[in-house]
Amino acid sequence: MRCSGCGKDIPFNGQVCPYCQRDKSGDQMIHSVLVVFTLIGGGVGYLLNDFIGFLVGAFAGAIIGGILGVAASSSAKSKPPEVRVAPDNSAAAVPTQSRSAARLLELDELKAKGLISEAEWSEKRNALLRDL
Ligand SMILES: [Zn+2]
Repeated sequence: MRCSGCGKDIPFNGQVCPYCQRDKSGDQMIHSVLVVFTLIGGGVGYLLNDFIGFLVGAFAGAIIGGILGVAASSSAKSKPPEVRVAPDNSAAAVPTQSRSAARLLELDELKAKGLISEAEWSEKRNALLRDL
């Protein structure tokens, strides 16, 4: 089987390419579908027209298998990014709150260190709470 990352001939088994550490699940899917369709095509072709039928059938099967394998692996690959987008969007909403909380904590710290007076602390704290 050929690695679609580095182009080297690699063993079918295993999770990643031993040369470039690329995830080879896509390549495995293409390879499996290709082999299955080549065998089906060859078998059907042989039943129809012996040896020439076998060659033509295997060739047609390999082409169909290759197209389906690439389609299957690309659709499998296109799914993970969609899943990753959702947490990013919900995470973007959080900072507004946590930033306010961080500022309140910062304010308490300033007062604890005596850098701002009780009145300043109270005033600033009220302003921050209004923004929430
Ligand atoms: Zn590779």
